[in-house]
Amino acid sequence: MLRILARAAALGVACAASGACADTGGPPKVDRANTPDAAPTPAAAPGAAPPASAAVPPALAPLPADLPFQVGTGPTGRAQVALTFHGQGSPDIATALLTLLEAADARVTVLAVGTWLDEQPHLARRILSGGHELGNHTMNHGDISSMTADQAYAEITRCADRLVRLTGSAGRWFRPSRARDCTPVVATQARRAGYAHALGYDVDSLDYTRPGARAVSRSVLDAVRPGSVVSLHFGYPDTVAALPTILDGLQTRGLRAVTTSELVS
Ligand SMILES: [Zn+2]
Repeated sequence: MLRILARAAALGVACAASGACADTGGPPKVDRANTPDAAPTPAAAPGAAPPASAAVPPALAPLPADLPFQVGTGPTGRAQVALTFHGQGSPDIATALLTLLEAADARVTVLAVGTWLDEQPHLARRILSGGHELGNHTMNHGDISSMTADQAYAEITRCADRLVRLTGSAGRWFRPSRARDCTPVVATQARRAGYAHALGYDVDSLDYTRPGARAVSRSVLDAVRPGSVVSLHFGYPDTVAALPTILDGLQTRGLRAVTTSELVS
């Protein structure tokens, strides 16, 4: 615990916050003017900056045949949880979080925003090389629930194209942007784009509201149960500072942090 806290302090203090996310239907609690959606970064030109060598995605066991399209929790009978991260924001914060997770032997699922992959293409391989899972969180993280079918499809496929280019796989999971669950229109377009499942969550850390590390860890640890899917975000120093307490609390409860595929398999 002390070692993890020390690493958090060393890695997190100098991190600058960037990017904001609220994947809920509730009132916004963040400064939207600072969100990537308010001031989107232009996507890189097609074919720009491909990796020297694509990462090989970890082998994935088949999922249960009766798994619903929308997954919000896993089985409650095993002492496992899935920590899931909105993939956007400062690469320093992302790297700090991944380093802390791996020091604790935790595996997570990162839902990457396409523009972030254009800006930080090396992080796709960095995530997979740590044994984590990588999925699709749309190209621009706009309000996908309000888009037309074609707009939503483009948001999903543009991110998927980047995942394929960087890793050889579009990933197993799609998470809608600015929404916990898919609308029927978005669900249809996600399936059309090749995603058999969308990933929601049952525990919201509210880290994107910048409430302080203690509030973030309390939000998670007060609500987490076996089978929980926890929503967290790259891009916020509070999350880095809270993570050691979260990991320690999970360990105290006998809960292991696993990828979403492992959680539901
Ligand atoms: Zn998000």
